[in-house]
Amino acid sequence: MLEAPEARIIARQLNQTVKGRTITYVSAGYTPHKFTWYHEGAESYEAKMLGKVVGEAHSYGGLVEIEIEDVRLLFGDGVNLRYYAAGAKLPPKHQLLLGLDDESCLVASVRMYGGIMCFSPENFESTFKPYYEKARNKPQVLGNDFTKDYFDRLFDDAAAAKKSAKAFLATGQSIPGLGNGVLQDILYNAGVHPKTKIATLSEEQRYAMYDSTVATLREMEAKGGRNSESDLYGNSGGYVPYLSKDTAGHECIRCGAIIIKENYMGGSIYYCPGCQR
Ligand SMILES: [Zn+2]
Repeated sequence: MLEAPEARIIARQLNQTVKGRTITYVSAGYTPHKFTWYHEGAESYEAKMLGKVVGEAHSYGGLVEIEIEDVRLLFGDGVNLRYYAAGAKLPPKHQLLLGLDDESCLVASVRMYGGIMCFSPENFESTFKPYYEKARNKPQVLGNDFTKDYFDRLFDDAAAAKKSAKAFLATGQSIPGLGNGVLQDILYNAGVHPKTKIATLSEEQRYAMYDSTVATLREMEAKGGRNSESDLYGNSGGYVPYLSKDTAGHECIRCGAIIIKENYMGGSIYYCPGCQR
């Protein structure tokens, strides 16, 4: 799943490749996929996009959106997006293929499930809309308005609701684009155990958590995303997580304790019992 660092990278790469190009070919729903959601049906996509010029791309949390004149093309966090230069061999399966006037292509394929939504922003009615609006309207975790003051307000609300560190940071779109994938290293760098009730944290630990949220995600973005994800060109990211299925059961490189994997709140958590008490 794309999370904030990878979505930002893909939006930037879209602006470097397809922005300004005219769409000369549209194929939506070519390879049937049960868990791909199209807005108003895949068959409506050609009429919505053909002949139009690709505008600016944005990321909202883990979502990527492209402005295409009077419509928006929105990709959910479970969608792989790839750019193919003119003449490159295209993949045989895809849920959306856009051909462009320089013979390059943009291809979207859905992993487990995901939305590829093309809609008019003036009359967008969808069950996905509340999720989209939250992702879009809240301060972006890697943006300038994700300040310590803003974090403190979120923290106080979550502390009052007796939330754990994991529930606070990575559930219910509390911070759009911060999900279970990036959570583990954020808490590792902060020295906070995922099950800690955040109301029990000291002022210093609260600061460490804010600092680690921003610094860890920045490092992931600077390294091209996590190594489990790929960018628009299909290159894997260069960020190797400290905590993942690959390091569980091995020694922590900071303290030597054995990294633990557990199930918690409908997902896996990883932590170092030495560094995260
Ligand atoms: Zn450790």
